[in-house]
Amino acid sequence: MKLSELSNGEKGTIIKVSGHGGFRKRIIEMGFVKGQNVEVLLNAPMEDPVKYRVMGYEVSLRHSEAEHIEVAPITKESFQSSHAEKWYTGDPATSQADDAMPSGRYGDIESTINVAIVGNPNCGKTSLFNFVSGAHERVGNYSGVTVDAKEGHAEFFGYRFNLTDLPGTYSLSAYSPEELYVRKQIVEKTPDVIINVIDTSNLERNLYLTTQLIDMNLRVVCAFNMFDEAEKRGDNVDYEKIGELLGTPVVPTVFKTGRGVEDLFRTIIAIYEQTQTPDSLSMSSNSKLYRHIHINHGHEIENGIKEIQSFLKTDDNVREKYSTRYLGIKLLEKDKEIEDYVRSLPQADLIFEARDRAAQRIKEETHDDSETAIMDAKYGFIHGALQEAKYVMGKENDTYKITRLLDKIITHKWLGFPIFIALIWLMFETTFSLGQYPMDWIDNGVAWLGGLLSDNMPEGPLRDMLVDGIIGGVGSVIIFLPQILILYGFISFMEDSGYMARAAFIMDKLMHRMGLHGKSFIPLIMGFGCNVPAIMATRTIESRRARLVTMLILPLMSCSARLPIYIMIIGTFFAASYQSSIMISLYVIGILMSVLMSRLFSRFVIKGENTPFVMELPPYRMPTSKAIFRHTWEKGKQYLKKMGGIILVASIIVWALGYFPHNSELSVKEQQEQSYIGMIGKTIEPVFRPQGFDWKLDVAILSGVGAKEIVASTMGVLYAEASSEDEDYTFDSDSEKYTYLRQQMTKDGVTPLTAYCFLLFVLLYFPCIATIAAIKGETGSWRWALFTAVYTTLLAWVVSATVYQIGNLL
Ligand code: GDP
Ligand code: MG
Repeated sequence: MKLSELSNGEKGTIIKVSGHGGFRKRIIEMGFVKGQNVEVLLNAPMEDPVKYRVMGYEVSLRHSEAEHIEVAPITKESFQSSHAEKWYTGDPATSQADDAMPSGRYGDIESTINVAIVGNPNCGKTSLFNFVSGAHERVGNYSGVTVDAKEGHAEFFGYRFNLTDLPGTYSLSAYSPEELYVRKQIVEKTPDVIINVIDTSNLERNLYLTTQLIDMNLRVVCAFNMFDEAEKRGDNVDYEKIGELLGTPVVPTVFKTGRGVEDLFRTIIAIYEQTQTPDSLSMSSNSKLYRHIHINHGHEIENGIKEIQSFLKTDDNVREKYSTRYLGIKLLEKDKEIEDYVRSLPQADLIFEARDRAAQRIKEETHDDSETAIMDAKYGFIHGALQEAKYVMGKENDTYKITRLLDKIITHKWLGFPIFIALIWLMFETTFSLGQYPMDWIDNGVAWLGGLLSDNMPEGPLRDMLVDGIIGGVGSVIIFLPQILILYGFISFMEDSGYMARAAFIMDKLMHRMGLHGKSFIPLIMGFGCNVPAIMATRTIESRRARLVTMLILPLMSCSARLPIYIMIIGTFFAASYQSSIMISLYVIGILMSVLMSRLFSRFVIKGENTPFVMELPPYRMPTSKAIFRHTWEKGKQYLKKMGGIILVASIIVWALGYFPHNSELSVKEQQEQSYIGMIGKTIEPVFRPQGFDWKLDVAILSGVGAKEIVASTMGVLYAEASSEDEDYTFDSDSEKYTYLRQQMTKDGVTPLTAYCFLLFVLLYFPCIATIAAIKGETGSWRWALFTAVYTTLLAWVVSATVYQIGNLL
């Protein structure tokens, strides 16, 4: 608990002091040192300051300061019991040895260290996070896979670690949502130690972020990751020297294999313990792992920082939250967020005046605006540090050599696009042809199970529910699992290998014509898998307008949930030789509609200008099969979960609506028509008359609002019931089964044209509850979520009606 939460007369043992370096130093120097007992002398709820006794002195703190001190309350019993223990087992020799070694435990309290993982995109943060926490987050070889903070836990050497995997950023300026997010996490969550993951094969650029962390006066441990690649290339990386120059410890690591991870955590513990004790705060000793350095930005900038600082330092509220030096630098960088913060301070006018004066002088000295000048100074610092550490980039086995060579072909003006199309075609072709085999097995299994139950169970609603409702409904969806796994396997491979980033690069021009960014492309491709993570992946798009438009058109990307419906209907109504073209036509129509819509939206609905951006082209890497399997399986698992949840429930509901009110006298067809589902379908039938849909199709459409998979399972249920009529319906092959389904559907008057229009409607209408919720979550308002729900449904209605009417004329 926090020290501020203890009331008068209560005691506690100090566990840790958090906050940025300068603040911590001040508090620790007052005697609030880890392991010390502190007693509350006077703590009035709304009144400052609070009085404490620590190390025999009386000290007063402000409430807000005491919030940064974590304590374990000492109750009378625990006090006595710990004494009693000492009495029996206490051997002075061993207890002294214990004291000498930093251990994770203080009394009965285990030390918990909060660690945030910060770094550029694609440097291996998530790999580290997964490796130590045992989580299975997605790793990918392109920027922006991590769009949210992931929390996990780990234990090393008796300490417990709370880990936060933050989105990748190149800097901590306030340009993109991620940068702001990471900054907020660092300032507000005050992690005890920050792991700055660095791609060693790209040192100079990666260290830029490090210099900003140094400005913030945080406890940082640098992990020089991808050290294997630097070694392979023959780089000379004197990491110890570089660490010495930066004032932060550096540990070489390879998170893909786990090399260096133990060292890393040993260092984190050491640095954590060191900065919790007062004697280490003096900078004299050389053995110190960590020292706070000031990056020298040059004469005028430094003067400016000092001048701004002199105003900020008088305000205790400010000093508590931020390093004033950091604020000074950010003000000179004209950082919007920090400017807003400073504007709320009493001395705002004076501070801004000082800032403007300094900026003017900097301009005179460097002929650059202060923002650029600070950036240059930082790169100058990095360059100097690397020079001093005799850093040389090797030539052997240059990853970038192969990458450059491959990029010459893959991003070639004329070759790039055909290669891209060929790969996408290969992806879908393999998915469907290879997926056919396991699909047949599962299908046979489902049929066998259904047969087994209906042979061995007494007749009645329970048997009907199991066979027609659950097995029929869920079974018609589960058979698509293999195809979905194969599709995700392909997408994972493209992500992990680095191809996806090139695909985005190739598509950039086209995307711009749509009013989007090249960066929109990755979420759009992800949308073919599932729209929900795709919506979240749009966070990497820096321009708000492009991001919003991308989200709005994402539902038009045909997600894998729609696949079962396509396969079912296409297999039923179209000859084998046409099947793949029909399938492709759906995807293409979805894409064309998205082009049309995004042009309309960016023209008329969402205004704003396009901001330029850099597209990251990470080196090509051979992805590990383990990572690909894991990533693919994660997705498959989600699919199965959905099956066990919403799809199972919906199948039962749809079955029940069709079963009740039950009258066994009637034929199956009559029973369905007089059931609840028949009534609902009949009621909405007029709405879909222009498309020629009958009530069964209408019901299927309605059921798909929860999740599109349910459309297929609903049809499974609707037509399975009809099938119980026939005496003998064992299918020897797929085509026979589809023949059967066609007979059933044709009997209801469904023509191939109607079937195709139905597919069009399914493609375009209301995505699913989860997607709408995701849009609401990402845009922060229901407005755009509802807009998406309405426009997609209208579009679906208009397109399917138009195609049906025109088709009928021909
Ligand atoms: P993040 O964007 O920082 O979270 O990076 P990821 O953890 O997603 O990793 C990006 C890619 O780099 C993945 O393909 C990883 O398998 C790969 N990777 C991570 N660490 C290493 C490493 O130490 N060496 C090599 N060669 N590859 C790595
Ligand atoms: Mg990541």
